Order: sequence, then structure tokens, then C-alpha cells
Amino acid sequence: MLHGVPAVGGVQYAPVVRPGARPSLDETPVADVAESERPAEVERLKAASAAVADRLRARAAHATGVASEVLATTAQLAQDRAWLRDAEKRIVAGAPASRAVAGAVGKIADALAKAGDLMAERVTDLRDIRDRVIAELSGLPEPGVPVPDRPSILCAEDLAPVDTAGLDASLVVGLATSLGGPTSHTAIIARQLGIPCVVAVDGLDDVPAGTMIMVDGSVGTVTVTPDEDVAARAVEGSRRDAEAARQWAGPGATADGHPVAILANVQDGAAARAAAETPAEGVGLFRTELCFLNRDTEPTVDEQAEIYGQVLAAFGDRKVVVRTLDAGSDKPLKFAGHPDEANPALGVRGIRIAFGNPAMVTRQLQGIADAARNTGTSPWVMAPMIATAAEAKAFADEARSMGLTPGVMIEVPAAALLADRILEHVDFLSIGTNDLTQYTMAADRMSAELATLTDPWQPAVLALVAMATRAGAAASKPVGVCGEAAADPVLACVLVGLGVSSLSAAAAAISAVGAKLGQVTLAQCQAAAEAALNTATAAEARAAALAELA
Ligand code: PEP
Ligand code: MG
Repeated sequence: MLHGVPAVGGVQYAPVVRPGARPSLDETPVADVAESERPAEVERLKAASAAVADRLRARAAHATGVASEVLATTAQLAQDRAWLRDAEKRIVAGAPASRAVAGAVGKIADALAKAGDLMAERVTDLRDIRDRVIAELSGLPEPGVPVPDRPSILCAEDLAPVDTAGLDASLVVGLATSLGGPTSHTAIIARQLGIPCVVAVDGLDDVPAGTMIMVDGSVGTVTVTPDEDVAARAVEGSRRDAEAARQWAGPGATADGHPVAILANVQDGAAARAAAETPAEGVGLFRTELCFLNRDTEPTVDEQAEIYGQVLAAFGDRKVVVRTLDAGSDKPLKFAGHPDEANPALGVRGIRIAFGNPAMVTRQLQGIADAARNTGTSPWVMAPMIATAAEAKAFADEARSMGLTPGVMIEVPAAALLADRILEHVDFLSIGTNDLTQYTMAADRMSAELATLTDPWQPAVLALVAMATRAGAAASKPVGVCGEAAADPVLACVLVGLGVSSLSAAAAAISAVGAKLGQVTLAQCQAAAEAALNTATAAEARAAALAELA
């Protein structure tokens, strides 16, 4: 059994299929092209890039929706003047076409990679184009995903967007990669397709095509040549879970009737309206900063009130928790005036932007208060990245002065440790397990290499969650979870066992969580929590909890 990181739940059993090999860049010719042959070499390059673009356009024409867009955009990139002109210059200077392509793309990719995260995805696309054009120039089969002739599990190091665009979920029934994190492109595509996915699987690259494997995207394992009956039972069990999720209509409660609010994470009015169509009982996390990632200037109070009002209106008198701007680190906002920092995840992010610019948070709270008045609703507000009780008090005082119900997020270990003192000032806590895990394990949540550390099943993280829920119980104040941990049905049961009163996750994950919770008792959740807390690793915690919840 190989271990990885669970990305999309579900179990599948099928043979391995692998993408065609990418051309080795070491083998691109080193000798220069004779001067008289260089014009012909330029033509060879143009023909190869045109052939690649044509094939991608033909695939785009047969695909629909996002897949079609990805393919069409990639086709354009194959004929993008920026890298083509650079490659032509290199050929004119003597480079053979393959070496010119590798050099030109390498130069642009380096520049894009330096420009930061948002551009990094384009680097994968560009390298994909490079490999396709070099394969075409070398007369090799086009690299990428083959169309399997029977349902198969696609295994790869990692997948480019163009590889996964247009995958047929009836033929590619599962995904496993040896790189990538749970938020990687592969995981996002798998979630859209609704197929199980495990990433960062140790040893996966040694499993040859054609081998029968079982992928369990809920626990993050890949079993090589499993017992056929065991695999068939596991697949059937996961099919039943999926069916239960489809049937689940809420509200959230354990099998013995202990209520747990199941809420949605949203980022704007459109997402809120879509979530309102699901069994979500409200919004547990409205990530307001995501409304403004493209803005150069701070939105006015009126603009903010209009945008927030859309989310509040979508849920009417149901609960909505609005988070104030979590700017900084992986989500910089141009207008927040972030300082140039060597270590932005530990820098001025979240509520810390208020240290140098308190009026910005005041204006946002004003916008939220105006939106509440305009829509006749009573939203809760919470601040991200709180580290001290004093920060919580300052935020709570200001929010209350505007008639809002204040809470804070528990994302910093210091806040979990002193949750009792923070609760003297606020009305509720919401645990952000994504950042709480990152800061507890001192492991960057964006790092693919550290995905086993940034696993919310880490017992150290669960211990901090337990501290926060104990403080909540002592103060008789609600403590929810709004990080990705709440989207894992089994972990969600453990969180309930730890005393969490609400779970907020991406709308697409809610039904599976609600259905699972409805199948177990509160006592089972508590036993699972106790068992998980007493382990030493994330994998042991998961196994111990599963044994109690079976
Ligand atoms: C979290 O950190 O768990 C959280 C919900 O906030 P975000 O993912 O937006 O940082
Ligand atoms: Mg966070």
C-alpha cells in the first residue's frame, strides 16, 4: 500500500494508465545548424508549432465548457509570438529547432515563475507546449494522456491543465500523482470530474502501466494489486456513500440527533446564490478578500456594502459569517499597501493590516453594517489571523459598536492555546484548519513537498482544535471549523467529537459531510476524536478514527 495525501474522496479499482513520455531535454541536439539550412529550420519550427496548435484546436472543438476553453487557450499559446520569436532568433544564431524551443520557453518560464504564484500555472502550460513541439520536431508521439480503451486510473508525476482538460470520467475513473498538493491543478480537475484523487503518493512512479490498483481518495492510499473481492467491496461502499450524499437534504445532525450546522464557504454573491440551492444551512466563511484580488484601489464603503449585500441577501435570515479582509501572503491585495517582506506568511497579513491602517478595517465593518441594514439581516463578522486576546478585543469592540456580532478565527497556535482568554471578548470562534495546520507544523500550505506535514489529521493540530472547543464549551460559546478539514467527511465526524458546533466547507463537499455525520452517533464521534488525539501521526489518527466510525 502506497501512502499519499487525500485530495478527492471515493474509491476506484482499475488498471493504471500513464501519459506518454515527455521528450528528454538532455537529448535536444547540441551541434549548430549550418547557416544555409537555418531558414529551413525556422520553417520546420513554424510547421511544428502550427501542427500542435491545430491538434489542440481540434480537441477544443470536441470538448465543452472549461475543458474546451483550456484547450483553445493552450492552442493559442502554441503559436504565441513571444516565445516563437525568441526561438526563431536562436535558430538564426545557429541553434537547432528543439534546442531553440527549450531555450526560449525556459527563458520565459523563468521570468513568469519569478513573477509569482498566479503566473506559475502558465509555466506548466508553456512547458507542456515546449514538450509537444519538441516531440513533433523529433517525430515522437505527442506527449500527454492517451484515451484508454477501458475504465482506468491515470497515474503521473503531475498533470498539466491541458492533460486533464476534456478527460472522460467514464474512462479515467481515478487520478493519482507522485507530486502535487491537495490544492494542485490535478486535485481541482478531479473534484470537477467527481473522481477519486490522491496526490503526493510515495513510490507511485514505480507502478507500471497496466497494473491493477485501488485508489482510495478519502484516506489517501494507492493499493497495488489488491485482493479483488476486498477492492470490489470498497468500491461498492464508496458508491453507497456517494448515493447517500446525493440523497442528503440536511439539516446537519448525527444519527442520534445531535445538531451540527453544515455551512458553505463562499467568495461572492454568485457563489452564495449557488450555495443557497444546496442543503447548506448558511455561510460559515465569506472570504471577502477574494472579491478584490484584481482591484488596484480600495472599494468604497458603498461598493463594499453592495457586494456583501449580495451574499447576505442570498441566505436571507440564515446564518452568514463575513470574514474581514485576509490580505497578504498567498492573497496580496494591491490596495492594502503590503510591505516588501522576506516571509509574508509570517508577516503583515490578515488582521495585521489594521496595525498600520486601522481605518481600512473600520471602513470594511461599515460596509458590512450597511449591507446588513440594507438587507435586513444580522451577519456575524470575524477577523482572520488573530494571535492575541488584545487583537480580539480591539476587533470585537469596534464590530459591536456597529451593531455586528464579533468572532475571530483560530488559525495561529497562540490563539488556540489562549482561546479561553480570547473568548472573554468575542461571541464565537471559527477554526481555520488550513492556516492552523501550516503554522502548527511550520510547513507552507502551498508546498507540494510538505503535503504530508500540512495534513489537518496531524494529531498536534487536533490537540489545538480540542483546546479551542474546550474553551468554547466552558464559555458556552460556539466554535466552528471553516478550513478544508471540514470537507473531509471522516475528519468532520472527529471535529464534531471534539466539540465543534458547525462545519463550513466548499458547497460541493457539504452533502458528503452531512450524509456521513447522519450515519454515526455523537458517542462514536467522541470515541473517534479520543482515539485520533492519542496517536502520533496523521495516518494513525485517520486509521484510529475510521475504526471507531465503521
Ligand atoms: C483557513 O486558514 O483554514 C481558512 C479557512 O482561511 P483561508 O483558507 O482563506 O486562509
Ligand atoms: Mg486562513
